[in-house]
Amino acid sequence: MNFSSKLLEDAVAEFAKLPGVGQKTALRLVLHLLNRDKEEVNQFSKAITKLRNEIQYCKVCHNIADQPVCEICSSPRRDKSLICVVEDTRDVMAIENTNQYNGVYHVLGGLISPMDGVGPSDLEVDTLVERLAGNEVKEIIFALSATMEGDTTIFYLNKKIKHFAVSISTIARGIAFGGELEYVDEITLGRSIATRVPYENSLTR
Ligand SMILES: [Zn+2]
Repeated sequence: MNFSSKLLEDAVAEFAKLPGVGQKTALRLVLHLLNRDKEEVNQFSKAITKLRNEIQYCKVCHNIADQPVCEICSSPRRDKSLICVVEDTRDVMAIENTNQYNGVYHVLGGLISPMDGVGPSDLEVDTLVERLAGNEVKEIIFALSATMEGDTTIFYLNKKIKHFAVSISTIARGIAFGGELEYVDEITLGRSIATRVPYENSLTR
């Protein structure tokens, strides 16, 4: 692309770094911003800068939060004996949208994927084990994607935690989870949590 302005070119280059945004879309977005009020565009860039600088990760569950401990973990109404293990914050949002889960979460921050060089030490595994050592937890639900990475991660975590006196279950694995989860309808997702099966049983099917 030949740009008439270096400023325009730089802005387009930044937008084009976003996932799923090519040069053409980037140009369209930038030109759109140029047509907006200066104040509006300032708001836009301020929101992004603030997000990146001020966001925190919950000390307990590692979900994205505005405080050191997120609203779910600090709520007295949530059942702390039940932990749902998920890949990232999008999964928390999807499950929260079902309004059918009253436990707390543990956000791993990814899945084990040797192909991509992601090992257990890259994920929030140790803190999950620490939470179980605290005795308050009675059940762990794995809500991870039905992919090889999801299976590998559950297999690894199960080995790591099965000596604790907690029941370990998985949600119905037909569900597209992790990223695609946001497209799963709430009723299906809610049902799959309600009808979760013990992990050992899920292996023999
Ligand atoms: Zn939390």
